[in-house]
Amino acid sequence: MDRLPVIAIVGRQNVGKSSILNAMAGRRVAIVDPKPGVTRDRVNVIVERDGAAFELVDTAGIGLEKGDSFFESVERQIRFAIERSDLIIFLVDALAGIIPRDREIARRLRKAGKEVFLVANKADTPPVDERLGEMAELGFGEPFPVSAAHRRFVGELVEEVLRRVPRARSGPAIPMKIAIVGKRNVGKSTLVNALAGEERVVVSEIPGTTRDAVDVQVRRGKDEFIIIDTAGLRKRQKTEDTVELFSQVRTAEAIGRADAVLLLVDVMEKISEADKRIAAMIEERKKPCVIVLNKWDKVPAGRGPEEFEEYLEKAMPVLPYAPVMMISALKAERIWEAFKVAGDLVHQASQMVPTAELNRVIQRAQKERSPGTRGTREPKIYYGTQTRVKPPTFIIFVNDPKNFTPDYHRFLENKVRQYLPFPEVPIRLTLRARGPVKNPKKK
Ligand code: GDP
Repeated sequence: MDRLPVIAIVGRQNVGKSSILNAMAGRRVAIVDPKPGVTRDRVNVIVERDGAAFELVDTAGIGLEKGDSFFESVERQIRFAIERSDLIIFLVDALAGIIPRDREIARRLRKAGKEVFLVANKADTPPVDERLGEMAELGFGEPFPVSAAHRRFVGELVEEVLRRVPRARSGPAIPMKIAIVGKRNVGKSTLVNALAGEERVVVSEIPGTTRDAVDVQVRRGKDEFIIIDTAGLRKRQKTEDTVELFSQVRTAEAIGRADAVLLLVDVMEKISEADKRIAAMIEERKKPCVIVLNKWDKVPAGRGPEEFEEYLEKAMPVLPYAPVMMISALKAERIWEAFKVAGDLVHQASQMVPTAELNRVIQRAQKERSPGTRGTREPKIYYGTQTRVKPPTFIIFVNDPKNFTPDYHRFLENKVRQYLPFPEVPIRLTLRARGPVKNPKKK
């Protein structure tokens, strides 16, 4: 397998290398240092975006030894970056400005003959941006502003990296990650074991991934998934009373990492608060979800799926767009199909629609139902655009978001889902104000 492109972050202390790494990875990543009991920020993470992927390395963690001088440690960072990386992010501090140590690093990087991308962290607010011009003295042009703390331009930074390293888009495909979640005893372990028991399915536990959940790679023919198995670890957990809280944290972590989620529910039981809590977690994180009614083998003949779907709709109003499947983990019935459906949902959530198509849908929605007036101000929709996938994210420019009722906002969201190819997945739709600006001179 080809290795992923490596992007190294180089910079003096305190410019925020690990904050940038965490922000670009989109989550807080920490691993346990080989030294017993020491937790430190992980030095490398894989950043995935719209099917592209690269490995991001915080060089501050490389070869650092006690008593190292600044130059010795920077020397190692730079050597690593030059030898191993496809692109060097040279990080500086927009608030502190350029100090001699930055100039020293710049001098060494210029000699390296590698592509260097100058980035200024701590550009928290627009006034800071005005000082960026001075930083061009380092010889790498004006820096790209970003604020890890305020999450400003973080997505744009990832995009810029992808633009500079095109190989990240054509590199090895990472299999989709599907999390199996659900309250206790719904059959999560049984499902994973059933997969393992299927002759055609190749299952391998991914070593070293186990912190909160076990990652298992499964393959059948050319279909391949990574399953985030939240049940695996619990079985080894000893103290019963810590289980509830611990499993909630683990469930949240698994959902956060997944491309899609299988929410297991016991078909023979009433929907409980615990089921709803997990469903809400999935909805909140905007993850595609298949609701899996397990233990279907226990349902007496003559009772059809419709009855259960209807009940589910009433008992669990969240995730209204999520497809429902009936499986039996115990009998290994329709289990692979559940993963295939989850895979389809990931494809749905990965689509990008052209702006013109989106705007036809917005027009059509307005004809079906006008936003009406709210107070004295007339709501106006100008146009919309899709800015992201996974989840599909739309920004609709309007005169003032306050002119729109939450109900109308939901209506628009539903229409976008209904008329565009996102029928079964969550989307995010934001109303944003855009001129004509209020005329301040008007009396
Ligand atoms: P987990 O806590 O979600 O991992 O649940 P387990 O996999 O440990 O399953 C809990 C119980 O439900 C066990 O006794 C399983 O044998 C049973 N079970 C799981 N799936 C099915 C199923 O599809 N049908 C039936 N009849 N029982 C099941």
